[in-house]
Amino acid sequence: MARNTESVCRKCRREGMKLFLKGSRCEGADGKGKSKCAFDRRSSAPGMHGARRGKLTDYGIHLREKQKVKNYYGVLEKQFRKYFAMASRMKGNTGDALMGLLERRLDNIVYRLGFGASRPQSRQWVSHGHILVNGKRVDVPSYLVRSGDRISVRSRPKSTKAVKEVIDIGLRDVPEFLFRDNAEQPKGIVMRLPSAEDVSLKVDASLIVELCSK
Ligand code: SF4
Repeated sequence: MARNTESVCRKCRREGMKLFLKGSRCEGADGKGKSKCAFDRRSSAPGMHGARRGKLTDYGIHLREKQKVKNYYGVLEKQFRKYFAMASRMKGNTGDALMGLLERRLDNIVYRLGFGASRPQSRQWVSHGHILVNGKRVDVPSYLVRSGDRISVRSRPKSTKAVKEVIDIGLRDVPEFLFRDNAEQPKGIVMRLPSAEDVSLKVDASLIVELCSK
């Protein structure tokens, strides 16, 4: 399976914003009260000439918006194009439909339920078989959830312990379109499909639509 192996913190510096790809490290402080986040310590673009990066061209602005979304959700170009094609066939605003599809990915839902400390870790929970959808094991991170789907953690001490440890840190609030039951066996429900307002990333999806439509 193809993977983007670039350092995740470099991605944040390139996009000029925190993408929260490293879990508790993204918000934690070291023993001297300084942030552990590489972006907080140095926000210039990576590379020898990163600090001197000039003004972006029009194409560059469009491209960065797309790359930001790809890095945030951890999808590669080919898969992103598939989401765009699906969104183009849907009714309504294509940009909103695209972001809604990305939000529905199972690894993202596991992350937003607070089961994983980061999207990469949530993706691992799914692909390692720790997550059930409506009682059945689903190990495909790109699985698109539907309204009413019940997401739970496999009833195995190893799975439950790993997820409960993340929930106990309490890194983030659960969004309105989801419900989390903090029972002994962590579980959640997709109350409705996510809308553009539920997307936690600040992005101008219309720029992506313009770029991908060319
Ligand atoms: Fe990005 Fe900071 Fe997290 Fe690294 S630690 S992934 S720079 S938010």
